Amino acid sequence: MSEQLALYLHIPFCRHRCSYCDFNTYTSLGGLQDAYTTALCREIEQVGALSGTKRPLPTIFFGGGTPSLMSPAQLEQILQAVRQSFMLAGNAEVTMEANPGTVDRAYLTAVHDLGVNRLSFGVQSAIAGELALLERQHNFSDVIAAVKLARAAGFDDINLDLIYGVPGQTLASWEKSVRAALELSPAHLSLYCLTIEPGTPMQRWLGNGRIHPPDPDLAADQYQLASDILNRQGFEQYEISNWSLPGKACQHNLIYWRNQEYLGLGAGAHGSANHIRYEVVKQPRVYIRRMAGETTGPFPLSAAAADYHAVDRAEAMADTVITQLRLLQEGLDLAAFRANFGQELDAVYDGTVSQLVDWGLLVTGNGRLRLTEKGRFLSNQVFYRFM
Ligand code: SF4
Repeated sequence: MSEQLALYLHIPFCRHRCSYCDFNTYTSLGGLQDAYTTALCREIEQVGALSGTKRPLPTIFFGGGTPSLMSPAQLEQILQAVRQSFMLAGNAEVTMEANPGTVDRAYLTAVHDLGVNRLSFGVQSAIAGELALLERQHNFSDVIAAVKLARAAGFDDINLDLIYGVPGQTLASWEKSVRAALELSPAHLSLYCLTIEPGTPMQRWLGNGRIHPPDPDLAADQYQLASDILNRQGFEQYEISNWSLPGKACQHNLIYWRNQEYLGLGAGAHGSANHIRYEVVKQPRVYIRRMAGETTGPFPLSAAAADYHAVDRAEAMADTVITQLRLLQEGLDLAAFRANFGQELDAVYDGTVSQLVDWGLLVTGNGRLRLTEKGRFLSNQVFYRFM
């Protein structure tokens, strides 16, 4: 095993839980950060040792939660463990998610000096009322300040996340958010449609009438509007929810969408490598306790692996189709699929591809299969047919 891997590291701490959030994050466990850092380093070492050789890492992604709550010393400890157990490429993309309002100039400079070279800010909206409804802990002037500080600290690879389909959001207010984000000259924008998840305050508000359900037609118009604006500004839409300036696509996420191997370490992280798909135990205290123990493997299962299964041929084929079709320009390489699985895609799915092409949802060209513009809006229904 000498092939490259992407590495996702989960940091499950936040200051406050946003009203729509169902991520694996905790607001009262900040006191565990040191113990969590030690456990995460141990997991990195365990999984690195199981891999036999030092596997090359082209990308690292600190996600959360709020990774920018980790101190530079904690991040340094983690990155040292990574360098000891894996071969971190000299030009590796190292991304950290950060929340505006949690960072200052000294922090960003320290983090940049450690080798983090890409920042992803959770902006979500430029409209005060929408930020309040989402229970974000920042306002848009915090975003402007954070981006300015990041540039001064040496970051020029900056992503901004925005959310559409928010209750009460209009086409006009969404346009304001997109244009305000563009004013900050990001290299990359991720636009997500809000889903109201079970157990979140937002779902409760929907139940008691405080908010109305988002209108899917409005959300589709918001997506189209943003797409038009960004295309005119020179951004390439390389994935269903992601736009970048040329050459600035997120290399880490490209590895997911190409269905290549990635490790997910830290509480609640998911990974897929060595034909095994797995999830790490979610609760940070349990994670810390489990990581005091040993692992018997196989690679990539640490002592904190909670759930895993071998990926069989049918699942591998479905994963390949569903992830690669998300890449709007690149699409799915039909010859590579045949070479990997020994069968034509359309034969495996019994004419489904031809049918979706006839319906105008998929298109073939240059040996690749891609979603059409109509297919982008109905992508979940397209993917469902391959599951
Ligand atoms: S900052 Fe992100 S991870 Fe934390 S509570 Fe808000 S949405 Fe969830």
